[in-house]
Amino acid sequence: MVTFLAGGTGTPKLLDGATRVWDSEQVSVVANTGDDVELGGHLVCPDVDTVLFAGGGVLDRETWWGIADDTTATHAELVRLADAAGLETGPRYLDDAAQTTGREIARWRRFSGVAEFMEIGDRDRAVHVTRTSLLDEGHTLTEVTGTLADAFDLDVDLLPMSDDPVATLIHTEAGETIHFQEYWVDRRGEPGVADVEFRGAADAEPTAAVERALTQPVVIGPSNPVTSIGPMLAVPGFEAALSSTPVVAVSPFVGDQVFSGPAADLMAGVGSDPSTAGVADAYPFADAFVLDHDDPTELTCHVERTDTRIDDADDAERVAGACRRALEAVA
Ligand code: GDP
Repeated sequence: MVTFLAGGTGTPKLLDGATRVWDSEQVSVVANTGDDVELGGHLVCPDVDTVLFAGGGVLDRETWWGIADDTTATHAELVRLADAAGLETGPRYLDDAAQTTGREIARWRRFSGVAEFMEIGDRDRAVHVTRTSLLDEGHTLTEVTGTLADAFDLDVDLLPMSDDPVATLIHTEAGETIHFQEYWVDRRGEPGVADVEFRGAADAEPTAAVERALTQPVVIGPSNPVTSIGPMLAVPGFEAALSSTPVVAVSPFVGDQVFSGPAADLMAGVGSDPSTAGVADAYPFADAFVLDHDDPTELTCHVERTDTRIDDADDAERVAGACRRALEAVA
């Protein structure tokens, strides 16, 4: 048995090969939910959905979000209506009172659907409508994710990190507090980052399913340590569980060169070194690392080296194989 911790790009890429290295029934995936937003009343869970769509064979692999060849008729009409009505576009937060009333899971990340600042495809939207409706019918996010996983014929066990609300908020150097999706999708990662907050995390709990999954050896795929793994580590009990089980992490850097995304800016923003060394500092519980052959970083823990670039399932299998060897070495 093995458990992967997933954000929205690196671990989903690695999972393409993980199921060649481990039997898929042996694999659990714990997905970050700090990036989730409620948009026009529908809960959108980007990292959960990337794993869901990848496992279901429908992921748009150009963007690593959404469904390949999805249409966007509803999104286009939302933008057209807002335009025609002279409504301001961009992220439209609901007011403070609305952030903490109603559906608990969507706290502190609730946006109006006017002009929809994140592009949601038509088939993709059906997932959000189904998810939100099942939540409103009284199911937990874990249960709903299991139902959606069945609908997409997923062969791994996909678990949201918590059934409680945890919202990743960026405090900018200009003194604003914005949701991660405003920072990344609307503002393209441009605002200077002063700090990152995981609102709700101190009161959130890992689910029983996650607690069970964290008794297995754990692979942290190449991930943004701040906004993909950070929300998990902020949930009480999560880090202690990782300290009690073998953990291997794949660096999302080669030395101080990041493969993609905002990890370097966010790490610098929270005072970490944006490099493999900084990732190792962020994961004091890790027993082993998988590093690229060209990564000059020397770590004191067990290190497996390989080419860590993942462009296809063969690359993913190679990196997953290195993860397996590392876990076997430290078990
Ligand atoms: P997000 O949710 O999209 O921010 O993505 P993740 O938390 O999954 O983080 C993606 C991280 O994976 C980034 O920091 C990238 O540097 C890293 N990454 C992307 N592609 C690769 C790759 O092919 N190999 C490795 N080792 N890291 C990668």
